Amino acid sequence: MDARLEAIRDTVLARNPGEAEFHQAVVEVFESLGPVHDRHPEFLEAAILERLCEPERQIIFRVPWTDDQGRVQINRGFRVEFNSALGPYKGGLRFHPSVYLGIVKFLGFEQIFKNALTGMPIGGGKGGSDFDPRGRSDAEVMRFCQSFMTELYRHIGEYTDVPAGDIGVGGREIGYLFGQYKRITNRYESGVLTGKGISWGGSLVRPEATGFGTVIFTEEMLKTRGTSFDGQRVVVSGSGNVAINAVAKAQSLGATVVACSDSSGYVVDEAGIDVGLLRQVKEVERGRLKDYALRRSGVAYVEAGSVWDVDATVALPCATQNELDGDAAARLVRNGLIAIGEGANMPSTREAVAVFQEAGVLFGPGKAANAGGVATSALEMQQNASRDSWSFEHTEQRLTDIMVGIHHRCASTADEYGEPGNYVLGANIGGFVKVADAMLAQGLI
Ligand code: GLU
Repeated sequence: MDARLEAIRDTVLARNPGEAEFHQAVVEVFESLGPVHDRHPEFLEAAILERLCEPERQIIFRVPWTDDQGRVQINRGFRVEFNSALGPYKGGLRFHPSVYLGIVKFLGFEQIFKNALTGMPIGGGKGGSDFDPRGRSDAEVMRFCQSFMTELYRHIGEYTDVPAGDIGVGGREIGYLFGQYKRITNRYESGVLTGKGISWGGSLVRPEATGFGTVIFTEEMLKTRGTSFDGQRVVVSGSGNVAINAVAKAQSLGATVVACSDSSGYVVDEAGIDVGLLRQVKEVERGRLKDYALRRSGVAYVEAGSVWDVDATVALPCATQNELDGDAAARLVRNGLIAIGEGANMPSTREAVAVFQEAGVLFGPGKAANAGGVATSALEMQQNASRDSWSFEHTEQRLTDIMVGIHHRCASTADEYGEPGNYVLGANIGGFVKVADAMLAQGLI
């Protein structure tokens, strides 16, 4: 790493102790940014990096609610409003027991660059809670969401901060959150949340967008090697919203997705995952992958081990951070991997990224490859602002254009900085320069 950046990194790490995921995200970006500061000493002068690493605002709050037995439960809520140089803070809410400030900050930090890469007018933010929706009734989830919004509402707004979903937050949760926001504020402010239902201000394609976008980005990478998804053997991790739609899109392009996973195990389905059954089990019944295996012949369910043991030519990690380590990466490379597109945020450890890059595998980092979700959220905001709703075809075309554009920006930035094919460098520099220019223009704030 560039020596000038090392000193800034050390201060950031010391100032944010115990936040391992945030440290990882910061270090990974800093490693790409040396050459930018050679060309733009004005960024150092204006302390852009130091400012970028310090969120504009961090909100932590108590979320009290009662469970179905009438017992009082307490969770912790977060919203980190990281950077508003390019637009209102924008990013999802994650409800998962692992959530603490370090996770929200890593996600918010990544979101700044991701959102910049989309070319849409959105800043970066993220939030969530250590609430675990798993095993909770609809009524419990509703009471939790209502309590969460009873504090959050005062910090958000269509021109201020626009939350959406992430792990544990889908259409059901966004509905309860929106209802409570409307009730407290007495405003039907559609643009305050994205990921809404289609009949009340949502956008077509938003549910599919992250998974679809990851596949579109990966297809663009494959094209640079004269190939495509057609005929590829694909392994996807996860079986949530991002994973399911990545499976669907990859198969629509002629690939066979032979495996996907949940936190208990993975399935191997050599005939190709049955997307209809997967949706039924995971989205309609909120069940487990084990049930998928029980209901389809020729499927193996594996409880021990890792989905990355399954050989593939293309891998799409769509579960969560640090789910793919250096050993798994080495196994995938040995088994013939040619490309990897990150549908999740930071799913590959730094060791894994190094293995892929050394082996010459096409590697699409999450902040580029999974930007389709938030980009389509920005399209939802655009429809809300103009009180319009677009067709599926039109919206999908916009998403495709945006993903192709992000690929182009990453690839051309990597070329410009003398590292062709290095999408990590391309995404980090491409996103950073856009934000840094806007921060410079807006003065010391
Ligand atoms: N949580 C998603 C992400 O990681 C989507 C955020 C949004 O739509 O605002 O980008």
